[in-house]
Amino acid sequence: MDPRVEKFMAEVKAKNPGENEFHQAVMEVAESIIPFIEENPKYKHGKILERMVEPERVILFRVPWVDDKGEVQINKAYRIEMNSAIGPYKGGLRFHPTVNLGILKFLAYEQVFKNSLTTLPMGGGKGGSNFDPKGKSDNEVMRFCQSFMTELSRHIGPNTDVPAGDIGVGGREIGYLFGQYKRIRNEFTGVLTGKGLEWGGSLIRPEATGYGAVYFAEEMLKTRKDSMKGKIVAISGSGNVAQYATEKATMLGAKVVTLSDSSGFIYDPNGIDNERLDFVMNLKNIKRGRIKEYADKFGVEYYEGKRPWEVKCDIAMPCATQNEVNKEDAETLIKNGCFVVSEGANMPSDPDAIEVYLDNKILYGLGKAANAGGVAVSGLEMSQNSLRLSWTREEVDQRLQTIMKDIHKTCLKYGTEDNGFINYPKGANIGGFVKVADSMLAQGIV
Ligand code: NDP
Repeated sequence: MDPRVEKFMAEVKAKNPGENEFHQAVMEVAESIIPFIEENPKYKHGKILERMVEPERVILFRVPWVDDKGEVQINKAYRIEMNSAIGPYKGGLRFHPTVNLGILKFLAYEQVFKNSLTTLPMGGGKGGSNFDPKGKSDNEVMRFCQSFMTELSRHIGPNTDVPAGDIGVGGREIGYLFGQYKRIRNEFTGVLTGKGLEWGGSLIRPEATGYGAVYFAEEMLKTRKDSMKGKIVAISGSGNVAQYATEKATMLGAKVVTLSDSSGFIYDPNGIDNERLDFVMNLKNIKRGRIKEYADKFGVEYYEGKRPWEVKCDIAMPCATQNEVNKEDAETLIKNGCFVVSEGANMPSDPDAIEVYLDNKILYGLGKAANAGGVAVSGLEMSQNSLRLSWTREEVDQRLQTIMKDIHKTCLKYGTEDNGFINYPKGANIGGFVKVADSMLAQGIV
């Protein structure tokens, strides 16, 4: 490892002990950025990278609530306000039992670069709780969300910090959170994104992350004069991002053959068409059931406890969670002919898997570029809220496509190596960094 990166990482680890995912996210950026900073000493003297790894503010709070049996429950909750150099903090809320400070700091850190890449004026933040909505009644989820927002409402606002959804936080949760914010503050403002269409939401927001990741894959394929048409796609997850990645890939003529959840994956060699996708949406969004039921319904294979990276595919789209592709998975994918990875999830490939992609010179679109469509349309939702009007579906989709193309161009600008290979991680990290770093320099030591 570059000794400058090693020294920098030793300091980050000493200051943030035990936060493994945060170390991983910082390291991935440091490897591209530290050599760039050496060539651009203004960033070095301003200690920009050292400042960027320190959140501007971390809010940690207790969320007490009462379950359906009348028992008191207590969860931990957080909001990481990472960087506001280019706009109000912006980033999702995650409700999942694995949530801890290190995971949210990694997500907030990634968010800073991602938001910058979208070209929209949004800083970076992330938050959430170790609350698990799975198995809870709607009333329990509502009481939790109300208690959570009672504290969070002091810290956020349409010009300060604008949260959105993430794992475990969909339309239902955003509704309860928004209702409580409005009640406490007595104001109807664009304080959250991912809202319902009737009350300030944007068309295409639910679709945006999954659609965007497919648009990004299409842009990468164009660099090899290829397209999504006829490609076999393996997708993990079966939540918001996975569902709309499946829909868009199918619309563009590809065949999606897998979906998963934390229990296992299904393999449907004929492809998950619109009718079958409707079944998945109903299963996951309304019935809140398990993906195994897909295999039972359509008579396809189900692999308990496994991830879908062993099937033959041209394109892999990890859309579930962090570190869901390791070295062995990456090697298996490539052995089976996969030559495109477009990440709907945040940091789904671990560092060894990324090394395998780069060594094999495949088209590797990392999450902070490929999944930026979600936050981009959140940014468009904020614009529509400020203007007090709603754009059409076509208008939002067109803007989303333009943003994904622009992000891809930024990756080409900073990531194309002398031999012509496009190093997307390098391109996205440097491209995301420059705008934030220049803004920080202009705003002084704050
Ligand atoms: P959802 O909660 O809608 O779906 C998450 C999916 O991933 C579910 O199928 C879930 O399975 C699976 N999953 C979650 N945790 C694990 C785990 N530890 N191991 C295996 N599978 C798991 O979330 P989203 O679709 O919104 O988010 C998916 C990913 O995309 C996350 O990494 C998120 O940060 C990222 N992302 C989301 C954006 C958005 O707009 N929603 C924007 C940008 C990135 P199960 O039901 O069994 O838990």
